[in-house]
Amino acid sequence: MLRLPLAILAAVLAAAPAFAQTADGRPPLVVQGAMSVEVDKLAGLLENVVIDRVGPWTFWRGTLDGYPVIVSKTLKGIANAAAATVLAVEHYHPAAIINQGTAGGHDPRLKLYDIVVGVSSVYIGAFRSPYRAAGTGSNPLEWVPLNLVASEGSAGTDPAALKIARFEGDARLLDAARHATSAYTRARIFEGVIGTSDMWNDEIDLIARFHRDYGTDVEEMETASAAQTAALLGVPFLGIRVVSDNTTNGSAFDPKTGEACEDYVRDVAKAYAAALRR
Ligand code: SAH
Repeated sequence: MLRLPLAILAAVLAAAPAFAQTADGRPPLVVQGAMSVEVDKLAGLLENVVIDRVGPWTFWRGTLDGYPVIVSKTLKGIANAAAATVLAVEHYHPAAIINQGTAGGHDPRLKLYDIVVGVSSVYIGAFRSPYRAAGTGSNPLEWVPLNLVASEGSAGTDPAALKIARFEGDARLLDAARHATSAYTRARIFEGVIGTSDMWNDEIDLIARFHRDYGTDVEEMETASAAQTAALLGVPFLGIRVVSDNTTNGSAFDPKTGEACEDYVRDVAKAYAAALRR
């Protein structure tokens, strides 16, 4: 299944500028975010920074407390996140990847600035709709999930594919995230499930369905895509998302939440690097 895309990728990468590895040859930690409000602060914290660019994707290569870290601006959405993840893995051979940033709450108890550490992420963007005749409308509440990586057969007919695609967070990264929680005083930190699609959902009944059927605590547009790519390429992965908006309790988008998430992720990165040194 992977053969054809990788062949195309090899051709693309051959045409891309060559990146230097991290100065000391240790595999770096890659920290991803989609938007400037999610990466600029982290990029500004790196020491000895060199900027690498491929098309619209930017990578800040430096160190944090002496440990090699790459901050990657993936741009928004699943296609951009997958592409940025492949570029990062091919160029930097990272020890691990953290995808972080803003997200919308799926649980009314979640307040702005609360953070959800992704024990797992699910892809809530692939479904098969049951047949409906012309003129009978559409009901996404009835749609059946499709796991597009479960098998090579036709996703719509293979029973193995008729469940949500779920990607588990890496145990060592989760340990680092737990280690860093006490320093985050802005709001609360939960362990939970991050739901990903290219949609911004504001339909309360649909959000309730995702929450009930797949356990989603927040939704956004990159984590499960980067998680899937990392899993297929064998790289440990963790998603971390701050609640930037929550339509289930009437909280409008606050872009400043992105910086709070960066503060926490900086501490997670430091805890991870410290654990690797031990
Ligand atoms: N209001 C911002 C939103 C950006 S679009 C703006 O106009 O610039 C969505 C981006 O924010 C994605 O990268 C996604 O990961 C994140 N996001 C935050 N809240 C979201 C929500 N409720 N649903 C989907 N994506 C959300």
